[in-house]
Amino acid sequence: MILFELACANEHHFEAWFRDGATYDSQAAAGEIACPLCGNARVAKAPMAPRLAKHHGAAAELRHALGDLRRRVEESCAYVGKRFPEEARRIHYGEAEARPIYGEASPEDARELAEEGVDVRRIPWAPEEN
Ligand SMILES: [Zn+2]
Repeated sequence: MILFELACANEHHFEAWFRDGATYDSQAAAGEIACPLCGNARVAKAPMAPRLAKHHGAAAELRHALGDLRRRVEESCAYVGKRFPEEARRIHYGEAEARPIYGEASPEDARELAEEGVDVRRIPWAPEEN
C-alpha cells in the first residue's frame, strides 16, 4: 500500500491509499478518484507527501539550530582549542581574565571540570557541511 497526498482541481488536499503507484495512475486516469470534499474527479498528486516533509523538516531544523548556536558561540567566545580544560580552570580560579571561551575537552575533562564547579556546557557541534 502506498499513501499519496492528492489535490483536486479546486485545490482541496486529501490523502488516499493505493495498492501501488500503477493503481493510482489507472484509477486517476479513469476518473475513479473523487475529492472527498467536493466530489471533483480531476485529481493529481500534490507536490510533496506531508509525512516525508515533516521528518525532513525536523532534521533540517535541528541542524539549523545547532548551526546558529555554533555561530553565536564562535562570535562571542574566544577559541582556546585543546587548552580548554586548562583555561577554564585558570578562569575559574581567577588566574586568567574572566571571559567566555570555547574549545575541545574530552568527556573526562568535562566531568572533572563540572565536579570542580567550573561552569562548562557541552555542545554537540553540527558538522560544518551537511
Ligand atoms: Zn475538492
